[in-house]
Amino acid sequence: MKRSDVAISRDGATRTPLAHFRLDAERKRRLIVAVADRVVSHADELTALDAAIGDGDHGHNMKRGFEAVLQDLDLLSAMDLPELLKAVGTKLVMKVGGASGPLYGTLFLALGKALPAEPSREDAAAAFASAIAAVRARGKSDAGQKTMLDVLIPSCEAFSSGDDLAGVKETAALAADATAPMRATRGRASFLGERSIGHVDPGARSSSLMIAALCDELREA
Ligand code: ADP
Ligand code: MG
Repeated sequence: MKRSDVAISRDGATRTPLAHFRLDAERKRRLIVAVADRVVSHADELTALDAAIGDGDHGHNMKRGFEAVLQDLDLLSAMDLPELLKAVGTKLVMKVGGASGPLYGTLFLALGKALPAEPSREDAAAAFASAIAAVRARGKSDAGQKTMLDVLIPSCEAFSSGDDLAGVKETAALAADATAPMRATRGRASFLGERSIGHVDPGARSSSLMIAALCDELREA
């Protein structure tokens, strides 16, 4: 059995690779806080990345969005997982703004539509893939364009192929770094053409931060 299956299932003696992911209100609260805190505490770094190849607002945008999510923590953690994710998506659309607000909003809304209340690992992998498809459609974008998709897609592939959560986190971090030599062909950074080369994409970095926080929290629980 893979380590991640053990970490996700938490069924004690009866756990199996297909065991469903138990989510009580406390667990949901901890997952929300883990992801939100990671984004908020890296706001300056995200803003600095965006200042290099964009307009320098990504960290502040994301911080505003996730602070709004934290304000609704009690309400959100009482919801079932699909409703919680849809509520987070709606909040991000309303509060983050820029290009990333609607795109991350789409990601969370699509996850909420695709996931059952107690997903198996297979459910989670399928939902992640369909949420990425929704982001692609919304952004008219795909892998290789120096965006958040350059982290989301390889991370989803790693998770779907059975990598443990440490491996998924590592894939996400490496994928964010790998956006540095790319030339942006979507979003504001594409206006810079060749001059976008040499900088990590801010949305790729924020995606890797969220995935890292999620993986850390799921492994610890
Ligand atoms: P804005 O560019 O409007 O200021 P942000 O700075 O909040 O918005 O977010 C920028 C990030 O959004 C980029 O680093 C990139 O990862 C992502 N992004 C922008 N456009 C697209 C797109 N069409 N598809 C996927 N991701 C995109
Ligand atoms: Mg920006």
